[in-house]
Amino acid sequence: MGMKMLAKRLLAAGLYSLQVPQRKLSQPGTWRILMYHRVIEPEQSLYPLEEGIYTTPESFARQMTWLKKHCQILSLAELVEELSKGNSNLTKAVAITFDDGWDDTCSNAYPILRDLNIPATVFLATDYIGTDKLFWTDKVAIAVAAIEDGFLLTEAQDLLITENKQYDQLLLEIFYTLASGDTGVSTQTVIEYILRTFKGYNREQLKTVMEVIDKCFGKFIAQTPRQFLSWAEVQEMSQRGISFASHSHSHENLTGCLEDFLRNDLTVTADCFKNHKVKTLPVFCYPGGYYNDQTQAVLSACGYQAALKVGCQSDLTANPMLLGRIGIHDDISSSDSMFACRISLDFFSG
Ligand SMILES: [Zn+2]
Repeated sequence: MGMKMLAKRLLAAGLYSLQVPQRKLSQPGTWRILMYHRVIEPEQSLYPLEEGIYTTPESFARQMTWLKKHCQILSLAELVEELSKGNSNLTKAVAITFDDGWDDTCSNAYPILRDLNIPATVFLATDYIGTDKLFWTDKVAIAVAAIEDGFLLTEAQDLLITENKQYDQLLLEIFYTLASGDTGVSTQTVIEYILRTFKGYNREQLKTVMEVIDKCFGKFIAQTPRQFLSWAEVQEMSQRGISFASHSHSHENLTGCLEDFLRNDLTVTADCFKNHKVKTLPVFCYPGGYYNDQTQAVLSACGYQAALKVGCQSDLTANPMLLGRIGIHDDISSSDSMFACRISLDFFSG
């Protein structure tokens, strides 16, 4: 644990014993939307997971128990309704959301929610539901893990060279460095570095590098079992207290696309829910947290009443198309005091 994290832990423990987070949540007009991704033991995953993406089932259960005791847990629909009325009596209001539709939302999080009778909302990237497709970020993790396991076949090397287009130079260098076995840093660090770099690419650049990764590491990618929910799981949860809404169809950054693409994506994602007879909330969740004036305007025109971004902005005057959420993951919220500070104090969640 680094010094900064240690200092944060000590500070959180001190503030918690003084009831600072509890008091902050009790202030009138206070609401929070929590954002979870995966609920899984990282060792259970077949490829390395980014730290910011998972909470262990044990931490998740403890967090839900804490919320039950200290907060007023509302469904997202109830919270959006209260916000639209500008209800200043709202206090300690918390809504729980999950992004993407991972299979562990059903296998690990749902049993805990059901036992504690806690409502939650899951935002599905509908193109991935019921399929064994993977996000590009996970494909990168699989590729890096494969190289670290000793895979860099001659064919893959040849492909990397022949397919080497303008934007692949970095990829090539990273993969050769990895294969040489002397990066001097953890797999996690390498993956996070690559993802950070690729996230700065535009759609065309990203498409190019991912074509190369698909070609070179197709064997490993194809071996990875389904990571997302099936529609049967969605239907089951939907009948038992879990609500669903759209996180787009494609899960692409919707600020980098033309309006036609955006409108089409929204039509397709709505059709997916309809075809599988799953009711949805008129609330949207921006893929990657990216939004701009166009996305907000098109969503409103398509009938969405609210949309969720990433960030801790949460007051009664918040723009309904830009409701803030606090990301919860194990590295920053594995104790009650860290969790309580994270969800209540801006300087812990910013
Ligand atoms: Zn997402």
